[in-house]
Amino acid sequence: MFASEKSSLYRFLLIYIGSSLFLVAIGLVIFFNYEKHRLIDFQNSLIKVQSAVLVSELRELHKSKEHEIIYPKHSEFSSAIYDIDKNYIFGDFHPNSPSLDKEFYQKNNILFYVQKIYPYYLGTAYIIVQKSLDDKPIISVKTRLIIGFVIVIFFITLIAYWLGKLFLSPMRNSITLLDNFIKDTTHELNTPVSTILTNAELLKDFYPELENSKELGRIESASKRLSRIYDDLAYLHLNHKRHYNIEQVDISEFLKKRIDYFKTIAKAKQIQLTYNIDESVLLNIDKEDITRIVDNLLGNALKYTLPNGKVELVLTNEYLSIKDNGIGIDKAVKDEVFQRFTRANKSEGGFGLGLSIVVDIVKYYNFDIELQSQVKKGTKVSILWKK
Ligand code: ATP
Ligand code: MG
Repeated sequence: MFASEKSSLYRFLLIYIGSSLFLVAIGLVIFFNYEKHRLIDFQNSLIKVQSAVLVSELRELHKSKEHEIIYPKHSEFSSAIYDIDKNYIFGDFHPNSPSLDKEFYQKNNILFYVQKIYPYYLGTAYIIVQKSLDDKPIISVKTRLIIGFVIVIFFITLIAYWLGKLFLSPMRNSITLLDNFIKDTTHELNTPVSTILTNAELLKDFYPELENSKELGRIESASKRLSRIYDDLAYLHLNHKRHYNIEQVDISEFLKKRIDYFKTIAKAKQIQLTYNIDESVLLNIDKEDITRIVDNLLGNALKYTLPNGKVELVLTNEYLSIKDNGIGIDKAVKDEVFQRFTRANKSEGGFGLGLSIVVDIVKYYNFDIELQSQVKKGTKVSILWKK
């Protein structure tokens, strides 16, 4: 799966699953509350029946001619009786601050039912019946809902994943097509560009009078630029399966050769290319990587400097810096130019790949990169080796 595809899929899954679960959770909470109230109402209605039984027992007692009256007790509930002034008369429990004005109420896990009676058998105006709430059916509903919720999560995730894949397949096809197109184009670019470059050099060897030919210089400069674009694209496309060949490289020697290579471009643009290179600066690095760093930084300096400008390269044991007096980079986009496909200035051609490649390499070798720039004054990019 491509990185862009993965991030789109994750975002889709997050939104889809998140919103679905949120809605399902709300539905389940509403359903649970409804069921809980229904179960409590059912238990309240049972208490009401039990209270009615008690009233009839009180009536019997009231009518009884016995001297000794025994208060009716029940194992399933407790009860107490109050007179018209809400004073406690008797009972098998003595409630703490009872609410005689409400018909039903609940304190913690105990249900209360208050019944007003008339006529006042044994002087009773209110009966209060108390019973513990049987919470087993409520817990059972809760457990079933949680299990249901887990099953729903599973199915929603499954459907979301399948849907995500389905929606992303056109995007995957386009990316694959584009990717193959870039690979093929890159591959096809290589041979003609090398042919043009080699033959331009051969022409100069065969016809020394062409050494200073402007036309040939431009052909060489343009094909070298093309060749660097090829190198960047190939680097990006082959980097993941690449085998690193890290060796000790004499950067001083390497740079001098590379400057020679860029001289044609500088000359074609009439840019003064100067350098100050300390001898024998050695680094353990893959040649391909140092080539990409130098080519991109030097290429940028030459590209973004106007004709008759100046580019200066300095190499020491601590750093490599490439400074130009070109168009510079706006402060606002200074940090963004390191991202792939980001370009601060469209006046010159390019893909916005160069600096992102340099940053990848700098990170791999644990180097540091610094960019100082001022619009219309120039730019200086430094790579610190941190040896
Ligand atoms: P590519 O390198 O892929 O051909 P590019 O040069 O546009 O294209 P980068 O090398 O990544 O891409 O540079 C990103 C942007 O940073 C450039 O588009 C340019 O705006 C700015 N930039 C880079 N170097 C300089 C420089 N020396 N002077 C001025 N602007 C620069
Ligand atoms: Mg560039």
